[in-house]
Amino acid sequence: MRVAVFSTKPYDKTFLEVANAGKHQLVYLEPRLDASTAFSAEGAKAVCVFVNDQLDANTLAILARQGVGLVALRCAGFNNVDLVAAEAMGITVARVPEYSPHSVAEHAVALMLTLNRKIHRASARVREGNFSLEGLLGFDMHGKTVGVIGTGKIGLCVTRILSGFGCKVLAFDPYPDNRCVDAGAKYVTLPELFDQSDIVSLHCPLTPQTHHLIDEKAIKTMRPGVMLINISRGAVVDTRAIIRGLKSGMIGSLGLDVYEEEENLFFRDLSSTVIHDDVFARLLTFPNVLITGHQAFFTHEAVSEIARTTLENISSFEDTGYAAHPISVERLA
Ligand code: NAD
Repeated sequence: MRVAVFSTKPYDKTFLEVANAGKHQLVYLEPRLDASTAFSAEGAKAVCVFVNDQLDANTLAILARQGVGLVALRCAGFNNVDLVAAEAMGITVARVPEYSPHSVAEHAVALMLTLNRKIHRASARVREGNFSLEGLLGFDMHGKTVGVIGTGKIGLCVTRILSGFGCKVLAFDPYPDNRCVDAGAKYVTLPELFDQSDIVSLHCPLTPQTHHLIDEKAIKTMRPGVMLINISRGAVVDTRAIIRGLKSGMIGSLGLDVYEEEENLFFRDLSSTVIHDDVFARLLTFPNVLITGHQAFFTHEAVSEIARTTLENISSFEDTGYAAHPISVERLA
């Protein structure tokens, strides 16, 4: 089957080629998929896309007219796809429900430890021959309270790692999981979690309910100086409110792997250009903010598994008319 692979990076090609083993005709395209690039899928029965491709009703309609029957996401989140429109047009949407929750959880903890012990600043200092410890004071993770919002696959891994550090884990999820309790977490209400946590770590999907879950009001109810980690999706936090929180000191430190407007920035080398996003540029000015460009998933294990499951979805759709890991409209409920 001919598959148009959008937002292709060299590493995507490397891993997808191995998983494909020559079975399907994969056409690699660098541009992001949106209504203006959807015509490049001409002749393909499937498109393969990533987190910042925009599959709104417009784009899906163009794909449907060209005979595309499958959208194979190379990721777990599917907030960038209009599932209702896809269903109405008879387009199957499939994803990679699980690849390596460890990759993402370990990155979340890496951000926590780096921010806490200021490793990024210490490393830069030592390279310049500056061995002063002024401003590098951290705290013991042991005994601290961490609020984990969203205790699915990744939240569970984070809970297990932090329990190992001797942290007290408070959890919030509309669907509590006993495995998290067994790992040492205590489920509480969101206000309780905000009130008691030294660190708040976000691991819920982006849905209408979680959009700007961390806003001005939520920040006001958090512990002054709280560390906030967002590794889920950018719009789960209201970035402007976060900046105000950082300026007032209510937020003591911030670790981000995702950003509300990341589709205009991430996954590209913009080091020789001017950043036009003033909100993002402001974030970069804080010494207590650490940002990575949506790389939490980026381990050998995770990327291999993403490629394997993506090809499984494509093959299964070709062989049976059904993807191995479809997403249905019901998942929006
Ligand atoms: P998952 O589906 O296993 O878990 C998500 C959990 O969030 C579920 O338990 C669900 O009940 C809970 N949830 C839903 N609504 C909630 C709400 N309003 N408040 C609190 N919890 C809520 O998903 P996962 O594999 O653990 O991934 C979680 C999210 O992490 C994904 O949706 C994606 O956005 C993000 N992610 C980021 C990266 C990255 O590289 N930065 C990689 C993978 C996933």
